Amino acid sequence: MNKKSPLVAALLNFILPGIGFIYIGGGYFISGGMLVFFVSIISSMSALLSSSSNTENLFLSILAGLIQCVAFSILGYGIAIMHNSIVENSKKLSESIEKEHSVNSGKTNDNVIFCSKCGEKITDDSIFCKKCGNKVR
Ligand SMILES: [Zn+2]
Repeated sequence: MNKKSPLVAALLNFILPGIGFIYIGGGYFISGGMLVFFVSIISSMSALLSSSSNTENLFLSILAGLIQCVAFSILGYGIAIMHNSIVENSKKLSESIEKEHSVNSGKTNDNVIFCSKCGEKITDDSIFCKKCGNKVR
């Protein structure tokens, strides 16, 4: 998952409602964004066709379409911000896991001792030397 620009999502959703969701990505947003896109195209086309003879209705349907574009634009912006914080959190989580892991593996490297008989490197939790069998503890 990568971070997405909230402004790009807002702009895309303003011009073509739903496309900003597709830009943010992820299964739910892509399918939901496509549905929003088709529904908004169909609804604005039918609104334009039914109100083309009446100037007042035409104005209202254009206004409604504009408000819809602004609403989806704001929605796209907010969802992009939410998406980014999720990406940020999961990145932090994987980083802390990685850090913990490297700390643990560093610890085992520090706990290495040498056999008093043959000088073989052995971990300090072993009782016998793995090379010569000398009892270490
Ligand atoms: Zn040994």
